[in-house]
Amino acid sequence: MPIRLLTPATTRLLAGLLLLICCLIPAPALAQLPWQADDLNLLPPATPAEYVFGYSVEGRPLTAYIFGEGANVTMIFGAFHNNEPASAAVVDLLREYLTIHPEEWAGRTIILVPVSNPDGVAAQSRLNARGVDLNRNFPDTWSRTALAVRYNPGPRPASEPETRAIMQLVARFAPAKIVSLHQPFHCLNWNGARGRALAEEMSAHNGYTTTGDIGYPTPGSFGTYSERLGIAMVTLEMPIDEVEVCWQQNREALLAAIRTELGPVSQPRVLAKTF
Ligand SMILES: [Zn+2]
Repeated sequence: MPIRLLTPATTRLLAGLLLLICCLIPAPALAQLPWQADDLNLLPPATPAEYVFGYSVEGRPLTAYIFGEGANVTMIFGAFHNNEPASAAVVDLLREYLTIHPEEWAGRTIILVPVSNPDGVAAQSRLNARGVDLNRNFPDTWSRTALAVRYNPGPRPASEPETRAIMQLVARFAPAKIVSLHQPFHCLNWNGARGRALAEEMSAHNGYTTTGDIGYPTPGSFGTYSERLGIAMVTLEMPIDEVEVCWQQNREALLAAIRTELGPVSQPRVLAKTF
């Protein structure tokens, strides 16, 4: 006659004991799980830090995307003028590219501002909501003289909140290099000797001509302002072309600008508060 080791009563007793044991074992903290550290290497790279550094006339946020850290700081701006559609789009494509290529920002800081004039986006306008050309509103070389309404410099230097926010962003991060994207002149317009060196480095990758003279005066421009701070400044003027064409032309040139090390500014100049 077989011996029944597990009577119904014994089974119920064992099941109850098992349940009790399971409840008494503390759940391990997630950080202690041995597989987690290895699996972290499989995660996508961290997205850039998103930094709202100011607001437009109509209250729209001015957003910077900050990759990496290090003394070699590059700032890249798009869409000062929203009638130049490839400008913001190319900076956005660069943002996507950098997000999946962390090797490009190892040991250096890259700050991208795809849209510098957010109020002009909806209106597809060169100007901000008060009809000011932000690229003529910077202090130091600002002038009341305007050739046309499209170059309206505003009532005084840095009168616009977008201009002041960009100045504060530049002061905070002290970039060695700035590239500002525009259309349609198909050239690299540099400011100062350091800007010229940066433009020539970029030209080796996109084939654009370099020039220190865009052909007309630009008082109050971001370029002249940055030059006087000792920053290597290049206005990248893309041609009128499809966004994808502009991106393919300029991806390597922008990466070269990021990689270039021009050394510290010898005598950084702090502009007097003239606004
Ligand atoms: Zn422009």
